[in-house]
Amino acid sequence: MSRTSPGQAPGFQRFRLGGLLVTALYDGFVPILAEDLHGEPQTEIRRRLADAYLPEDGDLHTAVIGFLVEDDGRRVLVDAGSGSTLGPHTGHLREALSAAGVAAEDVDHVLITHLHPDHSGGLVTDDGEPAYPRATVHVSRAEADHWLDEKLTARATGVQKQIHEAAAAALEPYRASGRLDAFDFLDAVPGVCALDQQGHTAGHSGYLFTGGDEPVLFWGDTVHSHTVQLPCPHVSISIDSDEGRAVKARARVLDDVAGRGWWVAASHLPFPGLGHLRPDGEGYRWVPVHFKPLDQSY
Ligand SMILES: [Zn+2]
Repeated sequence: MSRTSPGQAPGFQRFRLGGLLVTALYDGFVPILAEDLHGEPQTEIRRRLADAYLPEDGDLHTAVIGFLVEDDGRRVLVDAGSGSTLGPHTGHLREALSAAGVAAEDVDHVLITHLHPDHSGGLVTDDGEPAYPRATVHVSRAEADHWLDEKLTARATGVQKQIHEAAAAALEPYRASGRLDAFDFLDAVPGVCALDQQGHTAGHSGYLFTGGDEPVLFWGDTVHSHTVQLPCPHVSISIDSDEGRAVKARARVLDDVAGRGWWVAASHLPFPGLGHLRPDGEGYRWVPVHFKPLDQSY
């Protein structure tokens, strides 16, 4: 008799936040390395990682999370995961969506925080077909203009060139069928306010769902390493397009979130990536959600 591995639980968790039904969808994990974090001495960054029982070299299993938001019969996906752009440890968001009982055809809108492949690669299937065949894809005009710019793409090298090419491939079928909306800030879709977080990328956007009585901010890559960047928000990461502007954007967003008591849905905090922030010393402390039945409100 053969024994098979029991495997992990399906990669989704649901929460009711005010009038919103939010489903966190686990796409996989990526490494966030200590050597890529700047703004504090490496010894201090490594000390903080070790203090959290992580390898000193970095958090090798940093979650990649997308979120489905359902309100008033509308299904909105915030970020699409990696698809096949980053290898087998990622690209599982659609499986998680399916495990949660939602068909890709039922998604009406996809809001993209930015066009790095861990957030947008999953817009297309391996065959280059739209993974969400009925959905309109929304991304800030500054973000789309930057990554789709032919001159910038031709001049780019290394990882930056790969990002340009992956972004173009992810958006192409939606653009070709008239289902790409490149928006200017503040008006993504009704009930959702796009917040300008430029710095990590040229058009990095947070999405604030304001319709319910409990605002929720989906912030994309405001934080990559919560272990380091919440106590030390001035620490940047080498994948930031403009590290100085990314630090300023983070300071603004963290202050807003903690001051107003918004829920946060974060792409790279521990799954399910939902929680609140509290000011703590020079930085902030993460207060995560707890697993609980859906009919128990907070
Ligand atoms: Zn990311």
